[in-house]
Amino acid sequence: MEDCIFCKIIKGEIPSFKVYEDDMVFAFEDINPIAEGHTLVIPKEHAKDLGEVSNESLSAVHKASKKILDAIKRALQPTGVVAVQLNGESVGQSIFHYHLHLIPRLKNAPRLPVAQMKMIPGDMEQIEKTAEKIRNSVI
Ligand code: AMP
Ligand code: ZN
Repeated sequence: MEDCIFCKIIKGEIPSFKVYEDDMVFAFEDINPIAEGHTLVIPKEHAKDLGEVSNESLSAVHKASKKILDAIKRALQPTGVVAVQLNGESVGQSIFHYHLHLIPRLKNAPRLPVAQMKMIPGDMEQIEKTAEKIRNSVI
């Protein structure tokens, strides 16, 4: 896609700190890192989000992510790695080319802001109703 920053990165029209590339996937460092080693893994095929990405690209991205996760572990010895992906402007997506964030937490580093979900028990009746609604919408 012509005006997509990540498509331009893949084509080398915009510079990036590449860490991995294969036929279907490209991975590079995020230039606004939440933590050292914050890496973005993207399909070469343009698709705006999880809803649009093809199964082939999705599978290739996630397979490559395992390799990159191993590389991050070898290179930086993190205590853990968050894999996260946003869909839609209202939840913070800013680049509309599917990408998986791999964000390591290094030893003695603060907790990652994306990994601070509090466990507050929900209303079980409501959860059951919502589950049914979603289940009935699977096609
Ligand atoms: P998201 O909010 O999930 O859409 O994430 C988009 C990410 O892309 C952000 O974390 C940005 O810091 C990152 N980003 C934007 N432009 C570039 C770029 N030119 N090179 C590397 N990372 C970028
Ligand atoms: Zn794109």
